[in-house]
Amino acid sequence: MAYFDWNATTPMEPVALETLRGALVEDWGNPSAPYRVGAAVRSRFEAAREAMAAALGFSPEGVIFTSGATESNNAYLREMALQLSEGELWISAVEHAAVRAAAARWWPGRTRHIPVRGDGVIELEWVSEQLGQSRPALVSVMAANNETGLIQPWEELSQRCAEAGIPFHCDATQWWGRAPEADFSQCTAVAMSAHKFGGPKGVGALLLKSPEALPRLQEGGSQEHGARAGTENVPAIRAMAAAFLADRPGAPRQAQWRDAFERRLVAELPGVRVNGAGSPRLWNTSSLVLPDFSARRWVPRLDREGFQVSGGAAC
Ligand code: PMP
Repeated sequence: MAYFDWNATTPMEPVALETLRGALVEDWGNPSAPYRVGAAVRSRFEAAREAMAAALGFSPEGVIFTSGATESNNAYLREMALQLSEGELWISAVEHAAVRAAAARWWPGRTRHIPVRGDGVIELEWVSEQLGQSRPALVSVMAANNETGLIQPWEELSQRCAEAGIPFHCDATQWWGRAPEADFSQCTAVAMSAHKFGGPKGVGALLLKSPEALPRLQEGGSQEHGARAGTENVPAIRAMAAAFLADRPGAPRQAQWRDAFERRLVAELPGVRVNGAGSPRLWNTSSLVLPDFSARRWVPRLDREGFQVSGGAAC
């Protein structure tokens, strides 16, 4: 079977699986407990946070572990809506549902869509023009699109927002494990999910540049520097850190494979269109418009032939 849906989820990295297995056995204590068994768990758990924070360029206090990018996006957009009772949220029209639906719920009547070009990339000039006339309360644009692999100019945008003093949130879920190393520390808030880069499902993080500016995402105990109450899923968090920091020497990051595949499809199947062809895209993603394509018919058919592909976002 050939698996072609790594943007939906990835198999676990061997080192992450090993860490998870070990942590399920050794990290059974409550990390908030004051005695030895709890303290040992706490110290391994905080080491994972520190290692991730250092690699990402955030402070350890700025790494809030969550259940994944859906929670990170929702929690941040909700809290910012409560904090900033005036002003607009600007998002792109091609955001993941975890941003679009959260915007609709928490920023009703004050969400504006940044226009995108035909290839799905946001119009940066529009942002520059609009910033001359009005000032949004918050801007949220993803790093790379889960369906098309298109890379948004999030670095330039985060720079412009920083210069204008406007908070910038980036859903970077599809970045790690696929795109080159990048510096997200210019962003005010960043969402990530472990299962997209070889970690377990149901765990992720919200990275915050100024953690003190954010009130509690969840009420209860004082876990996660008081930002998100609830006993932490230590084994999953440690496995996420192991996956994140994993050395992947053999990992192919070769856009020429994607391009050769697309060239062949276009040559052999008349009427095929490649979304975002010619624009900066993740090396692992091909998004195709096929003539007479019905995902309901083709996805099971390709599955029977041994190819697991998707007809759109899985989640
Ligand atoms: N944002 C993007 C860009 C995604 O691709 C996904 C997962 N498809 C999510 C957010 C949500 O991630 P999760 O389901 O792990 O919470």
